[in-house]
Amino acid sequence: MKKIPVTSPALPPFEEYVKEIESLWETRWVTHTGPKHSELEKKLAEYLGVKHVSIFANGHLALELAIDALGLKGEVITTPFTFGSTTQAIMRYGIEPVFCDVNEEDYTIDVSKIEELITPKTTAIIPVHVYGNSCDVEAIDKIAKKHNLKVIYDAAHAFGMEVNGKGISAYGDMSMFSFHATKVFNTIEGGCVAYNDDKYVEIFRSLRQFGQIVGTDDVPMVGTNAKMTEIHAAMGLCNLRHIDEYINNRKLAVLKYREMLGNIDGIKLCKDQEDVLHNYAYFPVIFDKEKCGVDRDEVATKLQENNIFARKYFYPLTSDFEIYQKTYGTDRVNVPVAKDLADNVLTLPLYADLLVEDVERICNVILDLIKK
Ligand SMILES: *Cc1c(COP(=O)(O)O)cnc(C)c1O
Repeated sequence: MKKIPVTSPALPPFEEYVKEIESLWETRWVTHTGPKHSELEKKLAEYLGVKHVSIFANGHLALELAIDALGLKGEVITTPFTFGSTTQAIMRYGIEPVFCDVNEEDYTIDVSKIEELITPKTTAIIPVHVYGNSCDVEAIDKIAKKHNLKVIYDAAHAFGMEVNGKGISAYGDMSMFSFHATKVFNTIEGGCVAYNDDKYVEIFRSLRQFGQIVGTDDVPMVGTNAKMTEIHAAMGLCNLRHIDEYINNRKLAVLKYREMLGNIDGIKLCKDQEDVLHNYAYFPVIFDKEKCGVDRDEVATKLQENNIFARKYFYPLTSDFEIYQKTYGTDRVNVPVAKDLADNVLTLPLYADLLVEDVERICNVILDLIKK
């Protein structure tokens, strides 16, 4: 039986990539904001519909440097139902992540619970567009304005999404996108911050290159090394040419999943959100054992026996990380919806090269198990 992994990187035709990197053997300009780097930043800003894009070695460093550039401190309100990176980036700056629960519809931050978590120490909200579901960006905007808070979206899952006809990074002060190999758009490793305020362009240039004002000997700030290489930027230029095709293939797989699993008692799927152009980043399924007779772990095991790999994504919650609990304790953590999700969610295989017939095979294994 053919192996179906949970994810698989989208790659351009080999010849196309080789052609893209050929000039590097002439110029020997392989890193430090070379021509591929500059072109990718420009093309991404166009594609994402935002004024500025600064690219970095990976999404996590992009998020850390966004936190740095905005000068966040004290407490930041965020969600624990995310990849560890979100919480880790906050904690790396000595900031306390204050966990807000998620909502039951799309698993993004529950906007009705944000305000009760705000204290005099709160400086920002870092919500996550989890699975490619948009947060309630307008409600978050209102709360942030009212309390004078910054907003950085963890948009690692949200590449190419639009909300109300605008690129999703139109909302908040900044949005971080990850270009990791497993994401909708990839540069193998990479990431960016998208934003509209001109004043951060130079700051990000310095932060990612050891705090230097690039091209001078001046070092006005403490920076790091978070530069993207030309080899990675070239992969981005190629993949960006194919992005619509990647997203469309994902959509075909999702439509088949929905057709086969959409009306089953005990299986809960995410709905398409109104006024949102989706990117089909993940396909999370919630299993309710009382109704369908099997739980998430039993489904995962059965799939594995059939050489199909699904993932408990996200489990555990980041509020259950040992390092979080050791540092901040558990007194302030009240996230029952997130907890229930982490215990019952399974993300099924989804990637640009996944075939519709493979989706049928996956669904049939699940449906057979439920019938028994
Ligand atoms: C992938 C991911 C990140 C980190 O991105 P990297 O590019 O892997 O560093 C951050 N947050 C979320 C939600 C992610 O899925």
